[in-house]
Amino acid sequence: MAKKVLIIQPHSDDALFSASHIIFGNYKTEILTIENNKKRVEEDRRLYEFIGIPYNHLGLEFDDQSFYGYHKAYSDVNIEDAKTYLKEFFGEETLEKIEKEILLFLYNFDKKHHGDTQIVVPWGVGHPMHIFVRDVVESVIAKGLWYYRDFPHSYKKRARRQVEEQLNDYELLRSVDITDIAETKWELARKFYRTQSGLLWFEQGYIKKNLPEEIYIRKS
Ligand SMILES: [Zn+2]
Repeated sequence: MAKKVLIIQPHSDDALFSASHIIFGNYKTEILTIENNKKRVEEDRRLYEFIGIPYNHLGLEFDDQSFYGYHKAYSDVNIEDAKTYLKEFFGEETLEKIEKEILLFLYNFDKKHHGDTQIVVPWGVGHPMHIFVRDVVESVIAKGLWYYRDFPHSYKKRARRQVEEQLNDYELLRSVDITDIAETKWELARKFYRTQSGLLWFEQGYIKKNLPEEIYIRKS
């Protein structure tokens, strides 16, 4: 595949957790991380240096701790509530800056690769920042995006309704059995994402399920 693939991840672990088959697959891949927490960015930089994939992150420094507060205030994740909450959480100015930086990166990436690109974004299930990032990218790229199913957020019971609703507009492009790469994937996660060791322990039930990785596209 000649196309340049860009996996956009709101947080430092999303691409490895949700779309490792692309990272390990036969693609020319780059990573863009949105959240800019110094420790986590450093973990990510080391991981992708080890794997041998170009790694980028937004220059804007911000820590995304919106998850728990959002879920206290709202039972479902949708773009309207996510925007309202994130505006409150980060302030309108910061949120606008995040949006602008994402769009600028996309513009430059597309220009650099003469439009021969495949952009991969979170499906936006279960996390306000995931759906926000998806929405920002969709505002400039209407067609042809790949959406990775968010691990572990989209597999939680409370995310079921959102998954069902989104299936009105999106369809499964491929479901990838990760049995062969699962061990490597989680070993790398444990080795490089030291700040996420609590999460990795807490989510081991979902990890052990060896769920396939799913890519969705917008229905035409
Ligand atoms: Zn995330």
